[in-house]
Amino acid sequence: MLSRVARPGVYIGQVTMYRFLSSSRAPGNPSPRALCFLFHDNRILLKKTGETWIIPRYADDLSVACRVGENYYIGSYDGTDCYAGLLSEERKIEGCEGIPLREIYYTLGEETFALAGRAFQTAFFHHHHLFCGVCGKPTEIKDKPSERICPACGTHVYPQQAPAVIMSVTRGDTILLARSPRFRNNLYSVLAGFVDPGESLEDAVKREVREECGIEVKNLRYFSSQSWPFPNSLMIGFTAEYASGEIVIDEEEIVDAAWYRFDNLPKVPDEVSISGRLIKNFVEQFY
Ligand SMILES: [Zn+2]
Repeated sequence: MLSRVARPGVYIGQVTMYRFLSSSRAPGNPSPRALCFLFHDNRILLKKTGETWIIPRYADDLSVACRVGENYYIGSYDGTDCYAGLLSEERKIEGCEGIPLREIYYTLGEETFALAGRAFQTAFFHHHHLFCGVCGKPTEIKDKPSERICPACGTHVYPQQAPAVIMSVTRGDTILLARSPRFRNNLYSVLAGFVDPGESLEDAVKREVREECGIEVKNLRYFSSQSWPFPNSLMIGFTAEYASGEIVIDEEEIVDAAWYRFDNLPKVPDEVSISGRLIKNFVEQFY
């Protein structure tokens, strides 16, 4: 039997964006080849070329789909300039279609998914901070793409990240899986929850497992992290072991939870999400 338990600091599965260079220095005239990441809700606008869906280029004149001032230069990818924007309304653009952002992981790959997630979060930030939260006056971009400044009162605002812990809890050859009322298709997954203000990640793991299932955990280990742009979460994954307690579910958060043996799992998330990777990591220990 192989043992492949995640070790602290081990990098598992998540792409690095080494080919992306963040910058606010937008070129004077956008290149026709510039990539345009445009969104409506959680859908990204893709263009169909033959049988393939691709990220549209500036030459496709998609900038007209955004309100003036809501199309943002975010940097370059492999030397190609990238822009991001939120579509102000549903709009038919010839040859283009809105695809759920999550689905491009399967069609365009993990790296494009990560880049599109970055673009979405940048556009989302700007769209939601056009006015100052302190004095209500319009904000401006000065030197940095990820900063807005209120000229009236001097407030600076930056993109917000919502840290959330996600953890596999194991007990011998079983893993604790739960079904949220939000899950479709009778899906079961590991537990997760947002970190409270003032709380450490480790405390958040222990609290979430205790609150949602009445279980105490031990031997927490860092697994990996994943940006989750729905709309701005940063998922921080841990593995943990059962310490004590019996399952008592929080019925507001969970409709069912149980220990599942590695070879008898219910329907679980796939590897696009860190939840799927945590479960896979557990199962692989036994093969
Ligand atoms: Zn202000």
